[in-house]
Amino acid sequence: MIQITSPLNFLGTVYREIRQSLVDMGEMFHLLGQPSEVQDKPDASGLKVTEGLIELDNVRFSYDPEREVLKGISLSVPAGQTLAIVGASGSGKSTIGRLLFRFYDVTQGAIRIDGQDIRDVTQSSLHASIGVVPQDTVLFNDTIRYNIAYGNQDATEAQIYAAAQAAQIHDFIMSLPKGYDTQVGERGLKLSGGEKQRVGIARTLLKDPPLLILDEATSALDTGTEQGIQEALSRAAEGRTVVTIAHRLSTIADADQIVVLEAGEVMETGTHAELLALDGRYASLWRRQAAERLNDH
Ligand code: ADP
Ligand code: MG
Repeated sequence: MIQITSPLNFLGTVYREIRQSLVDMGEMFHLLGQPSEVQDKPDASGLKVTEGLIELDNVRFSYDPEREVLKGISLSVPAGQTLAIVGASGSGKSTIGRLLFRFYDVTQGAIRIDGQDIRDVTQSSLHASIGVVPQDTVLFNDTIRYNIAYGNQDATEAQIYAAAQAAQIHDFIMSLPKGYDTQVGERGLKLSGGEKQRVGIARTLLKDPPLLILDEATSALDTGTEQGIQEALSRAAEGRTVVTIAHRLSTIADADQIVVLEAGEVMETGTHAELLALDGRYASLWRRQAAERLNDH
């Protein structure tokens, strides 16, 4: 089979993959020269995050007109709190993250941050206010310093070190012969999944956004690595409003609010204790994962 791939097709694929994996790169829109599907309104203002309240108001969304993926989601994440979204693969968890970042516009309803509809603000101000720790952090073929500082080009050396320390990757970097000047990425040092994720966390900490989206940030890691990453993520969550898209329930048991999503609908909402007492879907998911954890050890 002959495949003709134009550079533009290639960029389109990269763009789609980035959007799909929720990588924190509003910048990439411009770098790739790809117009985003959403456009700033002519009179769009800058988002002003005063408290950090996130609201989804009866949000409906479809990628294809034939199939609705989110069927009227209403959620409110008070400033400084953590909301965890759990649910089976395909239930729409990552889609909520993509909508918060406004990779797409909602089909119906609204998403508001501190009362401002995200369709009324500039995408640059929205993207500057939201940090994303994606499932798979993309590394540039550049130094590890550049890869961390990407979150904040004006960062000082001391700030970069502090972010790397909080993400628990500083000691590893210092153990490399070239330290922060080590080339990473496809043409340099290959980092493990856990190391890449720490770089992603350091990048986000350096960016210091008031709002944070974590997308199944620990799914690809072994239990020992996960522990360290969890500590780093908890530090990143301090003082921010966090939406965490969870795979393993053990990592989100202390969230302020847990939402169980099923086929694009909220089935249960509550704290870990409330949902266990409810003895519904969350409780059975929890029991199943607890049994799996026992089997793992
Ligand atoms: P989850 O994160 O809970 O696994 P997603 O939000 O990624 O689920 O996906 C929800 C549904 O939307 C799934 O049925 C998925 O196949 C579909 N979907 C996701 N991304 C796209 C896309 N870019 N185009 C069309 N359908 C998609
Ligand atoms: Mg997902």
